[in-house]
Amino acid sequence: MLRNAAGFDIRNHLRQEMMPHFLCPGCGHGLALRALLWALDEAGIDKDRLAVVSGIGCAGRLSAYIDANTFHTTHGRPLAFATGLALARPDLHVVVISGDGDCLAIGGNHLIHACRRNLKMTCLMLNNEIYGMTGGQVSPTTSEQMLTSTTPLGNAEPAFDACALAAAAGAGFVGREVTHHVPKLKELIRQGLDHPGFAFVEVLTDCTEIFGRKNELGSSPEMILRQKSDIRPSAYRDTVDSPFRSTDLRTGVLAVNDRPEYGAAYRRAAALAASAS
Ligand code: SF4
Repeated sequence: MLRNAAGFDIRNHLRQEMMPHFLCPGCGHGLALRALLWALDEAGIDKDRLAVVSGIGCAGRLSAYIDANTFHTTHGRPLAFATGLALARPDLHVVVISGDGDCLAIGGNHLIHACRRNLKMTCLMLNNEIYGMTGGQVSPTTSEQMLTSTTPLGNAEPAFDACALAAAAGAGFVGREVTHHVPKLKELIRQGLDHPGFAFVEVLTDCTEIFGRKNELGSSPEMILRQKSDIRPSAYRDTVDSPFRSTDLRTGVLAVNDRPEYGAAYRRAAALAASAS
């Protein structure tokens, strides 16, 4: 449905010349993109004042489809590029799109420090538990026992709780939602966009073609329904057994840290230094 009942028309926010998109049929990233564009539309953010920065991977590719100022950066580095952009151009609304491997493995250090600084921007981490684009390797969020091209006997590593990490590192706003609930996901992203500091939103999504096929999870609709049951039961429980998932993995707004925003503090320090010289 291109125009929904609320009057949101996704065609107003897509680069039509980039169609058809490269996503596999049923890929959850399309739902995540729809929720993001709906939230941006609802927030009334001017396209000329919107900068979308992305990393590498299937999630990173999404910025190419958004009709705004977009920046497709190197693997794991979208937050580093976005930090420079947000400091240099505080008039822009900066949104980062990153995958779980991009954000937590190659870019893990950047995420920690972006949370610590609390610079105003919104970071969407699309978690589909795998490196889809590069051959289906295990990622930091792959659930235990799941099959990937690098864990043919089943993943033995516990999965990272990205939201617990972001909250502990000081992110101003932390939330998680599933692509099963696009209106709820839109609402969570909208709250992140409105937050005055660093907003981290984890989107639990599905890689139907690589992860789903490898683990025999069925069709795209079946995978979406599994978000509520078999695949990610932890997202709907208050606690889980793994020591790496000792914090709760609920969906919705998980943490709001009322901390000073870094950009304002940086500009104050720069102005003080300029007046003293
Ligand atoms: S490989 Fe997976 S994540 Fe990438 S587009 Fe296909 S279904 Fe989506």
